[in-house]
Amino acid sequence: MNDPTIGMAPDHAVYKTLLESTLAIPWKIDWATKTFAYIGPQIETLLGWSPSSWVSAQDWVDRMHADDRDRVFEFCISQSLAGVDHEADYRALRSDGGYVWIRDVVHVVRKDDGEVESLIGFMFDISDRKKTEEQLAGLQKELEEWSFKDGLTGVANRRMFDSVIELEWNNALRNRQPLSLVLLDIDYFKQFNDHYGHLQGDECLKRVGKRLSQAGTRPKDFFARFGGEEFVLVLPESDETAAATVAERCRDLIFEEQIAHADSPISQILTISVGVGTLVPTHTDVVLDFIEEVDMRLYRAKQTGRNRVVMERTA
Ligand code: GH3
Ligand code: MG
Ligand code: MG
Repeated sequence: MNDPTIGMAPDHAVYKTLLESTLAIPWKIDWATKTFAYIGPQIETLLGWSPSSWVSAQDWVDRMHADDRDRVFEFCISQSLAGVDHEADYRALRSDGGYVWIRDVVHVVRKDDGEVESLIGFMFDISDRKKTEEQLAGLQKELEEWSFKDGLTGVANRRMFDSVIELEWNNALRNRQPLSLVLLDIDYFKQFNDHYGHLQGDECLKRVGKRLSQAGTRPKDFFARFGGEEFVLVLPESDETAAATVAERCRDLIFEEQIAHADSPISQILTISVGVGTLVPTHTDVVLDFIEEVDMRLYRAKQTGRNRVVMERTA
């Protein structure tokens, strides 16, 4: 290993001391031979490899995470050939097999004739920064997920429903396939809240949401909280018969859950009313009209005694 102070003015020993006492790790690569002319002894503290083990540029490449290697190597070579200072982030291999995120800041030193003479740079340990970045990315992802999730029940929210129904409506229109919609509303939920309290009401909604999310069995079936104590199922490529089966399954699932509702005028356990609609949309149909029609069927289920499914067209 060469000593960078050789050939320098005597007081450059001071610089060596300074260089080797920084957290950043200095290094120098001779461009013609692609070998290390120097690397700060701090490298051993950070990665466990002794300075003398850094011989060729290949050692640097080999001690890089396989997923970073090609990207970083190609980038650094092309930048160096172009004579452009640059920096690269990558995971450097530690002698114990672990990895450390490094930011390598590289200066290209040229000869008088413009040819590249050497690369000198500093390696910075950026693992803390990367950890923070990863945490932030994780939070961001979570946030994006939650922006489509209902905060109480964890099922998809109204916003997600709005996107899905539009998408599936267009699919059904294009492919001339039936699209079914199932609207579900808890019976006498106001009385439930009044009797058991709002917190118990929330618990009840969670149970109902969890249970009803099992109702659709096909991969494209979509379930969401429509709002308040109402839920919705979008059933693409499903005709009346399929939709009726799913709607009845919803009532069965809620019955199996056996949620006590002492104040319900029609039953001692929680029940739901359901409106169902199916159509093969055409260009003259409007998605909001379809939703409204299904909502009217739900209303009819309420008017005709609750705890039932209505799928007939309203007069
Ligand atoms: P119906 O049988 O006609 O559907 O009567 P209902 O009492 O279920 O319907 P109504 O629309 O009169 O009342 C719905 C109730 O649902 C009132 C509202 O406070 C309650 N609710 C809506 N969202 C929530 C919620 O997030 N948590 C709780 N605990 N209650 C909610
Ligand atoms: Mg309601
Ligand atoms: Mg209700």
